[in-house]
Formats: sequence, C-alpha cells, structure tokens
Amino acid sequence: MAQSRSYAKPVPEPSPETRFFWEKCRQHELWLPYCPRCQRFFWYPRDFCPRCFAWDVEWRRASGRGRVYTFAIHYRAFHPAWEAEVPYVTAIVELEEGVRLYTALVEVEPEPGKVRCDMPVEVVFEDVDERTSLPKFRPLPEDAHA
Ligand SMILES: [Zn+2]
Repeated sequence: MAQSRSYAKPVPEPSPETRFFWEKCRQHELWLPYCPRCQRFFWYPRDFCPRCFAWDVEWRRASGRGRVYTFAIHYRAFHPAWEAEVPYVTAIVELEEGVRLYTALVEVEPEPGKVRCDMPVEVVFEDVDERTSLPKFRPLPEDAHA
C-alpha cells in the first residue's frame, strides 16, 4: 500500500501478479485469474493455480455480478482517511464466477435492515487517482439478476 498525493487513503500497489488486474480495473473491467485445467476461476491472483498447481493459468473477464456473501457496517474509522465516511459497508462478494472478493458496498444505506447476505450486486469502479480504480459493488434489483 502506498500513499497517493491526490487521495488520502492508502491505494493498492500493483505487484507483478496483480498488475494486469489493476490495469483492467483502470479500464473499468473486472478480470479474474482462471485455470483451464480445473476450468475454474481462482482468487487472489497468482502465477499458478492454487488447486492443481498448474502454471498455465490465464485471465478472463468476469461478469461483474455476484451476491453479498457477508458484510460489516463500520461505525468507527480504522484509518483517519475514513473518518468522514463512517458508517460505511465492507463486504465479501461471491462473484458468479465462484470466487469471493473483499470489497466495499456503495449506493446502499449503511443500516442493518438495508444490507443483507445474498443481496445481488454488480461491480462499479471508483477512480481514486491518476492510475488507480477500485472495484466496489452496488445493489442490483432482484429481478435484474437472472
Ligand atoms: Zn488448476
């Protein structure tokens, strides 16, 4: 994590394994690592499949849709840069591709009655500085989630 001048919060510092992911986020596209042998996506990005240890893994674009697996409403900031935002919601989202991302929910009331597990969500990207866009998730209408 590195400090950005134009953004008070820590921003991700791409590693060789995650650079592609962050470049695609910058283009507002969500891509995930995929193992052709297992025919399954995996998370987090690595140079090999964590299931079968194959090194011939690839990137595939994800649908950007998923469901809230679990969430937390934060009433206290754990970093000074978040003090103006409490309460806010973090979540683990299970994507349609079967992997779970730790992320933040946006466009949702940070109240226990308004956020729920299994709620359908879709990815949105927040451009936080000149080179970083963060994938976050917002609620989808129930009937939009086939
Ligand atoms: Zn595999």
